Amino acid sequence: MRAVRSPVVQIAALQAEIRRCTRCAALVRCRSCVVPGDGDAPARIAFVGIAPGRRGGDRTGIPFSGDRSGDLLRRMIARAGLESVFITNLVRCNPRDARGRNRDPRPREIANCREHLERELAIVRAHIIVCLGRLAWRELAGRGVEFAPGRACESKFRDAILYAMYHPAYINRGACSEREYLRAFRRLARLTAGTRVARELTDAAAPAMLT
Ligand code: SF4
Repeated sequence: MRAVRSPVVQIAALQAEIRRCTRCAALVRCRSCVVPGDGDAPARIAFVGIAPGRRGGDRTGIPFSGDRSGDLLRRMIARAGLESVFITNLVRCNPRDARGRNRDPRPREIANCREHLERELAIVRAHIIVCLGRLAWRELAGRGVEFAPGRACESKFRDAILYAMYHPAYINRGACSEREYLRAFRRLARLTAGTRVARELTDAAAPAMLT
């Protein structure tokens, strides 16, 4: 009989597999390394960004680490007291333009990497998926669903509640203050607590928390 592998073991195996991926020829040429999702498994919250940054994940191999966006995201997570967190991106290789600057991933690249994302999320089984930025939101919530940062959405991804948030790079460019950004993380912490209690009681997410 085959032994059931724990989520920690499953994520480690998936990370090793993803690190060998060569589906996007253009990204394989410019990446320094592949950056699979990383964190707790299972996790209550999964953060989904866009792509590893040239100065961050592409150098460290860990999503949202080693650059200003990563520092800000991890500082907000700590200050809001969020625990049980998994962090990943839509694509796992750094996309660059002809001048070597970060660019948005192309639809084909996002589609190529979608299977990796789906498999990570299936193992992690987060109660809440936080989409960092419009691109991540559009990919998981769908094009027709309004992007409202700091709010949860009535539609779900699999069983998880979707929560919209600005990408930390946007905050670093002055879109809103860190204090305002932290408020959105604190609302997320309250939503997480409510969802956890609801799951424990009814094994279902709490619709009343969707504000
Ligand atoms: S972005 Fe994703 S699909 Fe494309 S090469 Fe990297 S790991 Fe593979």
